Amino acid sequence: MGQQLLFFDLDDTLLDHRGAEEAAQRVLFARESALFAGLSFDDWYPKYKLANHAGWTAYGRGELDAPTVSVKRFAEPLAELGLDVSLAHALSVAYLEEYPHHWKLLPGAEEILDAASRNGVVGIISNGFSAAQKAKVKRFRLDRWVRHLILSEDVGVLKPGRAIFEAARIAGEAGGPPATRKLHVGDSFEHDVLGAKAAGWLPVFFNPRKEKPPAPVLWVSCLRDLRPLLE
Ligand SMILES: [Mg+2]
Repeated sequence: MGQQLLFFDLDDTLLDHRGAEEAAQRVLFARESALFAGLSFDDWYPKYKLANHAGWTAYGRGELDAPTVSVKRFAEPLAELGLDVSLAHALSVAYLEEYPHHWKLLPGAEEILDAASRNGVVGIISNGFSAAQKAKVKRFRLDRWVRHLILSEDVGVLKPGRAIFEAARIAGEAGGPPATRKLHVGDSFEHDVLGAKAAGWLPVFFNPRKEKPPAPVLWVSCLRDLRPLLE
């Protein structure tokens, strides 16, 4: 009899990525006061977020590599604001140094991973940069519970692609019998919910803002509410 696979997205499901990203951007913005003179953080940050999103989308289509995305997301808003684009690389490096200082787990993350590890094989499936995602697992010692870290950069396919969920299944079953149940929890409707569903996993939408999901789905607004679903 196989075990159940209980897999989680990492950014904005177990760890507050959005909060850390914004906090790191605020530090850079304040530090580079000469560069950003006369601008407010709100002039800068929405433009950065748009460029970052566009960069990741292009990365997902295989049009850009990760190092290019990490510089381009600074170069584009700098150009748009008429600022010195030659600083994009330095800002990108500074951001990657600053970002880890602001990492925090979301409430209930450790508790729910612990509960999951008593009920099945626990893993993470993430589209984030490998180096950062591995550092997050290490910092918070998530390997106390997480047996498999499945990263898009290693698999070569991002969520919602079926291949990344297949890689997770193969790792989780580890040559044993088929899993009795495969559950994936994540905050992105497109990447986590639709991807998991198409790959034959049971999706659980992590929806802390209690938004109306685009289609019917099992959802929770806090991690602790997952408990009965893990059994
Ligand atoms: Mg996420």
